[in-house]
Amino acid sequence: MILEHWIGGRFTGGDSTRRAPVHQPATGEVRHEVLLAERSDVDTAVRVAAAAFRDWSQSSLSARTTILFRFRELINAHRTELAEIVSDEHGKVLSDAAGEVQRGLEVIEFACGIPQLLKGSFSDQASAGVDVFSYREPLGVVAGITPFNFPAMVPMWMHPIAIACGNTFVLKPSERDPSPAGFVARLWQRAGLPDGVFNVVHGDREAVDAILAHPGVAAVSFVGSTPVARHIHREASAAGKRVQALGGAKNHAVILPDADLDFAAEHLVASAFGSAGERCMAVSAAVAVGSAAAVVDLVAERAAKVRVGPGRDPASEMGPVITAAAKQRIEGLISMGERQGAAVAADGRRDTVPGYEGGFFVGPTVLDRVTTGMDVYREEIFGPVLSVIRAGDADEAINMINNNPYGNGTALFTSSGAAARRFQRGVHVGMIGINVPIPVPMAYYSFGGWKDSLFGQSPIYGPEGVAFYTRSKVITQRWPETAAASEASLHFPTAR
Ligand code: NAD
Repeated sequence: MILEHWIGGRFTGGDSTRRAPVHQPATGEVRHEVLLAERSDVDTAVRVAAAAFRDWSQSSLSARTTILFRFRELINAHRTELAEIVSDEHGKVLSDAAGEVQRGLEVIEFACGIPQLLKGSFSDQASAGVDVFSYREPLGVVAGITPFNFPAMVPMWMHPIAIACGNTFVLKPSERDPSPAGFVARLWQRAGLPDGVFNVVHGDREAVDAILAHPGVAAVSFVGSTPVARHIHREASAAGKRVQALGGAKNHAVILPDADLDFAAEHLVASAFGSAGERCMAVSAAVAVGSAAAVVDLVAERAAKVRVGPGRDPASEMGPVITAAAKQRIEGLISMGERQGAAVAADGRRDTVPGYEGGFFVGPTVLDRVTTGMDVYREEIFGPVLSVIRAGDADEAINMINNNPYGNGTALFTSSGAAARRFQRGVHVGMIGINVPIPVPMAYYSFGGWKDSLFGQSPIYGPEGVAFYTRSKVITQRWPETAAASEASLHFPTAR
């Protein structure tokens, strides 16, 4: 099947002639081909979205809310189907894909409260006979550029809120697992969203650069790797757009000697190997403080027992990685770690799954005695590889985290409230878990890292999402009842 763009409420090939293969990572087979947009296709989508903005931005809050609630119901009704599409194209196991859909659904539910979220403020009688009030208006056409690792959830971090705020949306999903975008587009239409409000343009760098340069795009939300996030932030800012660009990560989990090591080991394995480590909030560096180094054996033992297999098999706990190139790169980094002096405590390099020999599987891998100079520590591996670094005390662990260029998520395992507080206050990281290894904020908070994990000021979804997709107006008004009440003066206006 050839996956087409969704523009103006219908699938279309536009002017696209280039195509990319979309694999089924569990088998290695090509599942579909996806069209790669030309600049003219992006231009068409932006023009259609701009035309739709005229009416959509004027639609009432209750009309928008009705559609959002219907969309929520439709996603809920089709959650299994959507999870299956995600699992087939991404490779993650079905229960994990279902979790991704659930977390996206929660953002839709948050957006259903848009009348409350867009309430402005009003100051009666700010000056004699003068009232001041403020409210927020949508920006126009906004674009979302998203990564492969959450093909349903990450776009849902963006479009439900952007659309609820009165914007129209152009999504450029990852070309590696593009099917969920078209599936969701049809559900928006069935929910009653007017054609042209939500559009999908498939593509690669060509499409992205066309979005960044297009004068009709008011704002860009990006989630992906740090080098691309940096590029997006620079180019979109130079073109005068509002931009939020979330980048990559190296998430540390610190295990203090007073932690329950069995609990920590269970959660480290879940966090490092769930979704084959292809989560921007996965723990990829475990920092064992002092005697907590005993956790290495516990983790290695559990890692060896993780059931690796195709995502659709209910017995599987971990699926393949996204492409053959990703598998090769991850295995190369593990070997590099070994050459640079790491001890391989669990080795997933030669794992194969019977019946799925063509699949892109890499087994759970634990590298012990990693140091901060090694490539496995410095690079975001984005695979099922946990590096263990040893530290003398908690402050050394905090310094290590703060010296790392990324600042997305971090976690601490401890039984001490005082240690937790010191850690939480000391780390330069945006999202922190205390005995919680993947601290992805709920939909009514906002998601965003620090340092090289976020370019631009704005985290994504939650209240910050509403602020990002709107701009404020402050109105100062007077309705003079008598001529005397409107005395004019040449001096700068001050309150009376
Ligand atoms: P990626 O940066 O390769 O791709 C992301 C998007 O950018 C895709 O739509 C892709 O088509 C486009 N793109 C790729 N190269 C480009 C280029 N040179 N110029 C313009 N556009 C380009 O990321 P990925 O491999 O799809 O996803 C994995 C990365 O995303 C990891 O680094 C992960 O940490 C990060 N991520 C971050 C978060 C977060 O919230 N911070 C969430 C999920 C994933």
